[in-house]
Formats: sequence, C-alpha cells, structure tokens
Amino acid sequence: MIRNAGRREKVTRMAFDEAKRFIPGGVNSPVRAFGSVGLTPVMAACAKGARLWDIDGNEYIDYIGSWGPLILGHAHPSVVEAVRKAAGTGTSFGLTTLTETGLARLICERVPSVEMVRMVNSGTEAVMSALRLARGYTGRPLVLKFEGGYHGHADDLLSRSGSGIATLGLPDSIGVPESVAAQTVTVPYNRLDEARHAFERFGERIAAVIVEPVAGNMGVVPPQPGFLEGLRSLTSRYGSLLVFDEVMTGFRVGFRGAQGLYGVTPDLTCFGKIIGGGLPVGAYGGRRDIMELVAPSGPIYQAGTLSGNPLAMAAGFMTLQLLAEPGVYDMLERRAARLEEGFARNAERAGVPLRVNRVGSMLCAYFTEREVVDFETVQSSDMQAFRPYYAKLLELGVLTPPTPFEAMFVSAAHAEDEIEATIRAQADALQTIQG
Ligand code: PLP
Repeated sequence: MIRNAGRREKVTRMAFDEAKRFIPGGVNSPVRAFGSVGLTPVMAACAKGARLWDIDGNEYIDYIGSWGPLILGHAHPSVVEAVRKAAGTGTSFGLTTLTETGLARLICERVPSVEMVRMVNSGTEAVMSALRLARGYTGRPLVLKFEGGYHGHADDLLSRSGSGIATLGLPDSIGVPESVAAQTVTVPYNRLDEARHAFERFGERIAAVIVEPVAGNMGVVPPQPGFLEGLRSLTSRYGSLLVFDEVMTGFRVGFRGAQGLYGVTPDLTCFGKIIGGGLPVGAYGGRRDIMELVAPSGPIYQAGTLSGNPLAMAAGFMTLQLLAEPGVYDMLERRAARLEEGFARNAERAGVPLRVNRVGSMLCAYFTEREVVDFETVQSSDMQAFRPYYAKLLELGVLTPPTPFEAMFVSAAHAEDEIEATIRAQADALQTIQG
C-alpha cells in the first residue's frame, strides 16, 4: 500500500532553502522544521483522507493530521463543500452571522459545562482570553499550570517552573518579562500533592488552574485516577476557577471531550483545532455567570476582526455534524487501539523497550521502560533511538510528528489496511534500533 520506498528530497531541499530566505527558520511554526530529527522537512503539496503527498511526490499515511484538527481526514468532501459554499457568499463580514450561532449552539449542546462560548482565531487566543476572564472574575493575578503542558505561546504561559517546588515561574523564552512569567506557578503533571502545596502557598492569589485534561503536548499522558477530580475540589475550595484546555482533546477523545470522558466539570473550557475543521479557530466558554463578564455584556475586553470567520464556522459546523453520526468515535477507538496493540507487539518481538500511551485516537510511543506519567518520565524516552527510527518510518511512507513528544492522531479516514501497513512499517523501523 505504501508506494514510496526511499524518499526523494531534491525539490524539497531547494524549496526549503528558499523558504528560509523569507521566513524565520523556513517555517511558520517551529516543529515543522523537523529540527529535532535533523531531517529535510516534509513540505506538503496536497492531501486526501489519510494520505498526504509532499512536493517531491512522496506519499505518506499521515498521523500528524495538522496537529489534531483533521479528525475526519484531509479534504473531507462535505467539509470542503461547506467551505466552498461559504466562500462563495463572502469570506468575512466582521458582522454577526447565523453560522456562528449554529456552531456555538452545537458546542453548548454537546459540552454541558459550556453554557456560552466566544469564538476566537486560535487555541493560543482562546487560552489567553479565558485566563484574562478568570483573572477578571476572581480579581486574582496567578495561574497554576503543569510541567509539559502547552497552552499556546502567550507570554504568561511561556513560563517554566523555578528551582524548587511551587515557586513562581521564570521566562521560558527571551522576550517574556520576568514579571509576566512570575504570574504563573508550574507544578508536575499528575501530582495532586504538588498542586496542593502550591495552593497552600499561593491559594488566595490563584485565579485559575489551567490543565490539559489529557496532556497532549508531551506525547500523550492520561490523567491518573483522581487527578482531575482533585483539581476540581482544590479550585472549588480556594475559590479559583478550573480551566480545561481542550484545544486538542475537545471533540477528539470523545463527543463531550475529556470532561465527558472523565466526568469532571470545569468552570471554563478552551477549544480549537477540531471545532474549526482545519481552518484557523479557537473558542472559550463555560459557566454563564462567568462568560457574561466578557465585553460587550461585561467589562472584560476581548475582540477580533476575523473572529467567527464564516469559512471556519462552516468547516467546524460540518465537522461537528459529521462527528455526531453513530459509530464514529467507536471506529476511531478500534483503529487507534489496533495501532497501539500492533506497535506494542512489534516492540516486544524486537526486544525494544517501548511504552505506548493512548487515549481515544491520540497516541504516542516512547522509547523507555518506565511508565510515562509526567514530564520527567516523558524525558526518559530515548531520543537517540527515535531519530533513525523516525527516518525509516518516513522512508516507508509513514508520517508521524518529528518528535517523540507530540501525539499521533488517527482520523476517521484511516482505513484498516492503512493501519496494518503502518504497523508493518513500524516493525521495520524498529530494526534500526536493534542494529
Ligand atoms: N492548547 C493546547 C492543548 C494545544 O495543543 C495548542 C496547540 O497545539 C494550543 C493550546 C495552542 O493552539 P494554537 O496553536 O491554535 O494557538
């Protein structure tokens, strides 16, 4: 099934050199440079279903899926048609449209904790806005987040933990003022005791806890039993808000997102990715009494020229409609479970220590013997082993994120034979490690 044995790179190399002349690092988002594997990046030409072709004509089974949005696969005919139709009637008005209300209603109907929702243009914007709202609502300055969690590139979230436990954050990037990073407290994921310590120390000043209910930006790290529940009761006890960052997990791990899967109700939720069907989008929503503080109904300012863009709304609306069809999530679960099982069995046969973490159609394989439960154990994954393995996978036509610390996404377009072909390719790629 996989047609390109041996990867052609000539056109890509020239095109990437050209890109580097005009775009920093040649990319508009760092991971696309394939820096961590030291390979020529894949430059996309087109894609359909589970397949993607690069500009050299190599074909891949794609598990990047635009980093999560494409749960129905690339260029789903109904989504494309919805976008085409919307484009024909006007690409942007800067005025309210019926489609925005339609998508907002769908989200509210499916995610019960979300009584009202505001559309923005990216996940980063959704998180920034939700946290401004949390600070405005509580009148408190601090936000607690978790190591290895990614919530977009806003200043106060580009903060790492200071030395020692439960200290205020330090800037994680040049350009982020120390005073801004110090508004964020970072503790290890899945460590309720550490979160409790942070609350004992700073609780009266913490506006919100923001958490990926399944951590998807350090591979895939599920919440341990009691972790999300514990955060719920801690935040309630201290009068802070619980914000679920479901930019990745929303409509991915289930019809009601991770909050539906684990039965924990946040105060606010951030969305992105899937709700835009592959077009730029984000949204934040939650309890009505909190959301009504957002301008113009309330005093907390937030706005956007292209917010609620008709093309993004049409693509998102169609995507959520199609996800409501019976059996979609069951099928995703089956296909992804087969991939998990195939990867794990291959590794066992090859004698390679591999941990496969999976929640629904998000999965990640770590080269480690340790159970992967937080950022520290994620980092035990062997990067040296990953590089040749990754190069071989690409050569065999399997496109996964070029780092062991990002999730692979299975879509509804991944057919059984594509999953099987991927498992066979992974068995071959594991040979690079043995030998
Ligand atoms: N939050 C989470 C959990 C994400 O995975 C991401 C992006 O990957 C973001 C926020 C930021 O979203 P965006 O890249 O659309 O700004």
